[in-house]
Amino acid sequence: MTDQAQRKGYVVVPVEAVDLDTMASSMAEFLTAAGLPDAANSGAPQKTAKAWAEVLLAGYRQDPATILGQSWPDQTGDLVTMRGVPFVSVCEHHLLPFYGEAHLAYLPDGQLTGLSRLAALVDCLARRLQVQERLTEQLVDVVMDSLQPKGAACILEAAHDCVGARTLQHRGSKVQTVAYRGDFADNPGLQDRFLRLVLGGGVAGL
Ligand code: ZN
Repeated sequence: MTDQAQRKGYVVVPVEAVDLDTMASSMAEFLTAAGLPDAANSGAPQKTAKAWAEVLLAGYRQDPATILGQSWPDQTGDLVTMRGVPFVSVCEHHLLPFYGEAHLAYLPDGQLTGLSRLAALVDCLARRLQVQERLTEQLVDVVMDSLQPKGAACILEAAHDCVGARTLQHRGSKVQTVAYRGDFADNPGLQDRFLRLVLGGGVAGL
């Protein structure tokens, strides 16, 4: 783990440290304790363990600080935005999924990164135990640390199963969180431009 990963608290769990059999037997115990021995003896515990290890917690396999990787020189210095990056994460309070879209922007200071790398960063930070507010902050922090842009911004819009599944009348409600760093933090004009780009649905009148 890099110094940065430790400073930011980015846990990295190598694949060989994941014990699928124990995850499955613990799930079987969970189902038995819930009064569901038939489910405990079905294929569900193994499938659940696999889904958690390979999908919901897959972000722990990589250090987010290394995801953006190689950058290359930028000549324009203009805003780079990426909107509608789908993500799934897990609420650390209830261990239930929340999912939605991430909208990201950065103002380069001479360095660009690949857009697929930004999407990979969303994936790496989301597929962990999270709270949405922290995920939003971590996304801009890693972009700032990795690329040293003049500023970075992020909006997440997500539906939480711990809200929608427990209280049906809240189903479909979305939580929006936003984080700004660098030039975005104290420049309402730049924030406004970002918001229009990612939420306004168009590029006219920029
Ligand atoms: Zn929750």
